[in-house]
Amino acid sequence: MIVVMREGCTPQQVEAVVQAVREMNLKDHVIVGTERTVVAVIGDDRFKDRCALESLPGVDRVVPILAPYKIASRQTHPEPSVIALGGRYGATVGGPRICMIAGPCSVEDRSRLLEVAHAVKEAGAHALRGGAFKPRTNPYEFQGLGEKGLEILAEARERTGLPVVTEVMSIDQVLLVAKYADVLQIGARNMHNFNLLLGVGKTNKPVLLKRGFSATLNEFLLAAEYIIQAGNPDVILCERGIRTHEDYVRNTLPLAIVPAIKRESHLPIVVDPAHGTGHAYMVPAMCRAAVAAGADGIMVEVHQDPAHALTDGAQSLTPEAFARTIQEVAAVARAVGREL
Ligand code: PEP
Ligand code: MN
Repeated sequence: MIVVMREGCTPQQVEAVVQAVREMNLKDHVIVGTERTVVAVIGDDRFKDRCALESLPGVDRVVPILAPYKIASRQTHPEPSVIALGGRYGATVGGPRICMIAGPCSVEDRSRLLEVAHAVKEAGAHALRGGAFKPRTNPYEFQGLGEKGLEILAEARERTGLPVVTEVMSIDQVLLVAKYADVLQIGARNMHNFNLLLGVGKTNKPVLLKRGFSATLNEFLLAAEYIIQAGNPDVILCERGIRTHEDYVRNTLPLAIVPAIKRESHLPIVVDPAHGTGHAYMVPAMCRAAVAAGADGIMVEVHQDPAHALTDGAQSLTPEAFARTIQEVAAVARAVGREL
């Protein structure tokens, strides 16, 4: 349930609600909105006395939350969350501006990464992506440069000012990756790795959470809930395609999730049309479509020589194609009342 406080309630009244919630052996999560403060009550509250909370001074009403996710729900936090990514230019995701995250699938070496980082910055990207730890289906293929890759990403941030988004694959990598990265990516294969979700939930770095390729919307939001209830409110959802019977694409990109997430949650949602299609020729059209559908950001893979990329070349845009795509996305953004 959520306890909605009256406008103009005092901090002491909010504290009294928090104490009452704790006495019921439930967890509290206070959200101070621009208009209202609400106290989300977390835990099994089915047999608890709602009236006891309703009658406390300063309380407007107590509302049950029917969805299984609570603090990820829009009911507890009606305004959209705006998440700061770091870097020198104050990049954010979730506000009126569309956030463009671009870079290679993996960090291959220093000179190639720095070259592509400058190219995406030049084209107008707001954040740089690149994997140092790579989840690969085939154990004999390139697994990423590990910490060396993180050092290269940190240098690219110094040189371009762009915040860096990179994947953390296991709980023992969390502190290491958090030392270098601005945003911690949880890959699709790890969306159900609840220990890892709790691990990144204990950091103070924003988390880009990719949807598992067989996860439902409900499971996706519950994965976000794990991170938030562990203490980290800065979760960015990322739709990257799901597995279906179709084989003309690597994954099927279900853009209907964008309005569905907007209705269910206050968390920003980014769309990844590279993994969502697997084919570079489809990526610009799906970037435009994602922004038209209401996405808060786009994540794409960019490589200066896709034919020789160590990972995911077939779905990588060249820097020139990315520069064209960003202009097209800007036009769609204007048409739907947003901007880059
Ligand atoms: C990636 O972003 O390079 C990646 C491995 O993504 P996903 O986890 O969505 O497959
Ligand atoms: Mn990739």
